[in-house]
Amino acid sequence: MNAEIIAVGSELLLGQIANTNAKYLSEQLSFLGINVFYHSVVGDNEDRLTNVLRQAAERSDLLLLTGGLGPTKDDLTKETVSKLLGMKLIYDQQTEERILAFFKQRNRKMTENNRKQALVLEGAKIFPNDHGLACGMARETDGSMIVLLPGPPSELIPMAENYCFPYLKGMISDQSHIESRVLRFFDIGESQLADRIDDLLEAQSNPTIAPLASGGEVTLRLTVKGKDKQRNNEMLDSVQKKILARLEDYFIGTGQQTLMEKLAERLMEHGKTISSAESLTGGLFAAELTAQPGASSIFPGGFVSYGDEWKHEQLHIPAELLREHGAVSHACAREMAVQAMMSAKADYGIGFTGVAGPEPLEGKAPGLVYIGVSSAGGTDSFEVRLAGSRATIRERTVKYGAYYLLHK
Ligand code: ATP
Ligand code: MG
Repeated sequence: MNAEIIAVGSELLLGQIANTNAKYLSEQLSFLGINVFYHSVVGDNEDRLTNVLRQAAERSDLLLLTGGLGPTKDDLTKETVSKLLGMKLIYDQQTEERILAFFKQRNRKMTENNRKQALVLEGAKIFPNDHGLACGMARETDGSMIVLLPGPPSELIPMAENYCFPYLKGMISDQSHIESRVLRFFDIGESQLADRIDDLLEAQSNPTIAPLASGGEVTLRLTVKGKDKQRNNEMLDSVQKKILARLEDYFIGTGQQTLMEKLAERLMEHGKTISSAESLTGGLFAAELTAQPGASSIFPGGFVSYGDEWKHEQLHIPAELLREHGAVSHACAREMAVQAMMSAKADYGIGFTGVAGPEPLEGKAPGLVYIGVSSAGGTDSFEVRLAGSRATIRERTVKYGAYYLLHK
């Protein structure tokens, strides 16, 4: 099933609002295994909407429209669809009653305009609006399906979740089940990752494999369709195995859990504590770790040692070390980790030092970062070269810290 999302509203074309409905619907449809091939945006204009609908009906099986279901003159989605497809608009009794009740409760009179919101395409499946007046609907036409949803996201999202997606799911699952799984990778770029599984991406059909890069991570979404749920899962397992055979080193898990959530969970599971000494991240690691519920059991405290003097005087980093290697160095990162661990009497210590930019430091380029990790077993350090803004470099540094603690 190939879908097209049509957002109706002149305010979208004027740049007054972003088309977040299309983003939302696209993402959710992908979870259902429905391919979205086109997004269209059109103003509140009958002729132009008609043209867009004509074209969409030719190339897509599922048309999802958002917006223009309101009571005002410029809301003409239903009217346009009904004219184009030759379907009558009729009053939906339940919707009409809801609208009446709404006005009665507020002690206001219902206008004829408002009554218009109870008009639906004849033969349509109705989606109630629990957060507004305009109902949504789905109507099959020859071979395809058209779905109308309200514009305001506060109305659209609950309607989609509670009524529209379950309906679409039911339509699809008459034939098959859809299962999907997300594999998450870190410390590898999207193109590098894609390159390693080039042949799998090339050959993919069922399951499909969709790469996505965001926030320094790359994810692969595997989606499989088939009649038998168990068989679907076996197919996912088999593709996952093939992928991980090549990318095991970068694999950080399945699902939605972030690296920091995972780190906190791991420390709690093992009853271990960690302390941090942070230079370029200025406490970001501590902030993110303490954002995790139950952090007090794993994080006694940390240090923000930003300037060199402070590193020396408060954190006891030897002056010779700073003179010889500079603060942006393996040696300093390791010593920071050790000092943090010892001062806090923690099981682990982590040290962050580097150049957040935009200016170089100690003659070293922005993005050069050293992370030290220490435990009773010894101390390690890692060099990372990051790109991006100051904010990005600091955020990524923290992620790398969690990553090294978990995986190295
Ligand atoms: P209403 O009954 O509120 O008029 P409607 O279904 O007619 O609902 P529109 O008039 O098209 O919807 O849009 C109402 C509001 O919903 C817009 O002003 C905007 O804030 C929001 N909206 C509409 N379309 C989108 C979209 N594609 N993405 C995000 N927000 C949207
Ligand atoms: Mg409107």
